[in-house]
Amino acid sequence: MSVLRINDLRAAIPGREILKGIELEVQSGEVHAVMGPNGSGKSTLSHVLMGRPGYEGVSGSVTIDDVELLDLPTWKRAQAGLFLGMQYPIEVPGVSLGDALAESFRAAGRDPGDVRELVSVEAGRIGFDERFLTRPLNVDLSGGERKRNETLQLAVLNPKFAVLDEIDSGLDVDALRAVSRRVEELTGDGLGVLAITHYSRLLHELHPDVVHVLSGGRIVATGGPELAQELEQTGYAAYGGADEPASPDAAPDPADPFADPLL
Ligand code: ADP
Ligand code: MG
Repeated sequence: MSVLRINDLRAAIPGREILKGIELEVQSGEVHAVMGPNGSGKSTLSHVLMGRPGYEGVSGSVTIDDVELLDLPTWKRAQAGLFLGMQYPIEVPGVSLGDALAESFRAAGRDPGDVRELVSVEAGRIGFDERFLTRPLNVDLSGGERKRNETLQLAVLNPKFAVLDEIDSGLDVDALRAVSRRVEELTGDGLGVLAITHYSRLLHELHPDVVHVLSGGRIVATGGPELAQELEQTGYAAYGGADEPASPDAAPDPADPFADPLL
C-alpha cells in the first residue's frame, strides 16, 4: 500500500501563479478524478508533479510514501513510481517506443527482453497496433493512437501512481471504453490514479472513488462520483468556470504548452 500526498503545491509562470496550494491524497488502488474548466491549471498540475522544467516558485510537497518528489529530476520521480500520461503526447523522432520502454526497464532493473511480449499483450487489449513498437515514438500517430500509446506504456511500466491528463480526449467511444477498462483493471492490481478530465464521460467506465474540482489553481470542491454527474448537468459555472455545460466538441486549448512542438 502506497500513498501519493500533495501538500500546498504551488507553481507559477512568469508573472502569474497558476497552482495556489493544491492538497490531494491518493492511495493505492484509488481513482481520484480532477475536473475543471479549461485554463484552471489541470495540465500545469500534471507537469509540476512530473517535474517539467520552466515553472517558477514551485513549493510545497509531493511525496510517494516517504520519498519527496519535488527534490528529484523527472527520471527519479518515475523510478519512485510516478507515471504521467500527457494531454498532448509529443513526437520523439529517432526514439522508438521499444527503445524507450527497454531503457525504462533497464533503469528499473527489469529485463528489457520482456518488453516485446508485454507490448504485444497490452496492444491487443486496447486496440493499439504493435507495429508502432519499432517506429519513432508518436511520430505521425493520430490523437487517439497517442492516447492508446500512453495507456500501453502505463500498463507495461506498472508504476505505483498514474497521472492521466485528459486520456479521454481524441478517443472514439470504443477506444475510450477499452482504455478506461484497462486502467480500471490496473487499479485492481494496486495502481493509484489521478484522472484529469474536462468531461465526465471518462468516469462512466473508469469509476472514481473521489472527484475534485480544480478552479483558479485550487481544489474548490471534493465529493463522490455524484459530483461528476452534477458537473455534467450544470458545467463549471458554480465553480468559477465557463457558464455553459462543457461541449465535447471543444477544441484543445491552443495555449497548452504541450501543443507546442518546440517544447
Ligand atoms: P488546463 O489544463 O486546466 O486547461 P493549464 O494548466 O494548461 O490548464 O493552464 C493554466 C493556465 O496557465 C492557462 O491560462 C495557460 O494558458 C497558462 N499556462 C500554462 N502553462 C503555461 C506556459 N508554459 N506559458 C504560458 N502560460 C501557461
Ligand atoms: Mg490541460
